[in-house]
Amino acid sequence: MIKSLHKRESELANTKRQLEILSNGIFKNGELPKFKDKISETHLFPLRPKTLEILQINLGYMCNQTCAHCHVDAGPDRKEIMTKETMQQCLSFIKKTNAHTLDLTGGAPEMNPNFRWFVEEVSKEGITDFIVRSNLTIMLANKKYHDLPEFFKKYNIHVISSMPHWTRGKTDKQRGDGVFDKSIQVLKKLNEVGYGMPNSNLKLDLVYNPSGAFLPANQSALEKDFKKALMDDFGIQFHNLFAITNLPISRFLDYLIASENYEDYMYALVEAYNPLAVTNVMCTNTISVGYDGFLYDCDFNQMLNLKVANKVNHISEYEEESLQNRNIVISQHCYGCTAGAGSSCQGNVI
Ligand code: SF4
Ligand code: SF4
Repeated sequence: MIKSLHKRESELANTKRQLEILSNGIFKNGELPKFKDKISETHLFPLRPKTLEILQINLGYMCNQTCAHCHVDAGPDRKEIMTKETMQQCLSFIKKTNAHTLDLTGGAPEMNPNFRWFVEEVSKEGITDFIVRSNLTIMLANKKYHDLPEFFKKYNIHVISSMPHWTRGKTDKQRGDGVFDKSIQVLKKLNEVGYGMPNSNLKLDLVYNPSGAFLPANQSALEKDFKKALMDDFGIQFHNLFAITNLPISRFLDYLIASENYEDYMYALVEAYNPLAVTNVMCTNTISVGYDGFLYDCDFNQMLNLKVANKVNHISEYEEESLQNRNIVISQHCYGCTAGAGSSCQGNVI
C-alpha cells in the first residue's frame, strides 16, 4: 500500500507548494490563461454563490485505503478526525439551513468514532437527500463495520461509492490490490438489502474517475457500459454513474508531475474549458465543512486550505446570509470543474 504525501513528507503535502505549482510555469509565462482571466472573458468573474443546496461535511482524513489519485491525501496514517463538539456545531447549523442535501465524506467517514451517532442525530432533521460517500471496502475492513448496509438502510442513506472501472486490473491499479473483489462483494450485499434496485428508494450511485492523465468519456455512455458489465459479470445493479474529472491537486498532482504529464493535462483541461459549466460548478450551491469546522467553497479548496473569503469562516459562527455575499476563491485547479460537461461530486454539471 502506498503512503500518503504527509507520511512520505512530500513537498506536495504543503498546500502552499501545490498552489505555487498551479500559479507558476505555464500559467505565469502566459502559455495558458489563468482561470480568473478565462472566466473574465465571459464576465463570470468574480464567481459568486447561488442558493445553498448542499452541505458537504468531511468527517476526517483517515481511510482504510490509499488510492493513487486521492485528492484528500487520505490513508490509514492520517489522524485528522472531526470531534463530537464540531459535529454538534454542524447539527446546530443543519437545524437552521434550507439546504436540501447533506453529504458526508472523508477519508472513510465511517471510521469516525462518532459516525453512527451523527447519522442518527442528522436523520431527525428531515434532510431530503442524506448522502454518505463510502469506499465500500470499509464494510469488510473490520467486523464492527459489517452491518453498515443495514445501518444505511435504517436511516435511508443515499450511498455514493467510487468504482473507477468494471475491471479488476484498472480498479486495483488506482485503489489498491484486492479493492475490486471487495467492492464487488459489498455491492452485492447492498443489492441484497435493496440498494440500487430498480424502483428502490435506497439510492446507490457509483463514481467513475479516469485512471490516468486523461478526461472522462461521456457520462451516459460510461453508465451504460458500467451497468452492462456489472450486471453481466456479477448480477450487480445500481442507479446512476457520476463521471468525475481528476483535479490537479494532492496525490493526482503528484502523479501528474512524477509521470511528466502535468503540462499536457493542464493543456487538455484548458482546451476543454466550457463557459456553460462555470455557471453550475458545485461551489455555487455547496459549502464544504472541514474536519475542524472551517468552511470552504468546495472539497477541493478544502484540500488546498483555501478557506471561504468571508469574515465568518467556521461552522460555529455560520451565517448563511453572510456567506451568500462572498466571492468564491479560485485557482487553476478550477479548470478541472469546467472541462467538457463539467465535473462535480455529483458528476457532470450540464
Ligand atoms: S477511498 Fe476515497 S478517501 Fe480513501 S484513499 Fe481512496 S479516494 Fe481517498
Ligand atoms: S475547484 Fe471548487 S472553487 Fe474551483 S470551480 Fe471547482 S468547485 Fe468551484
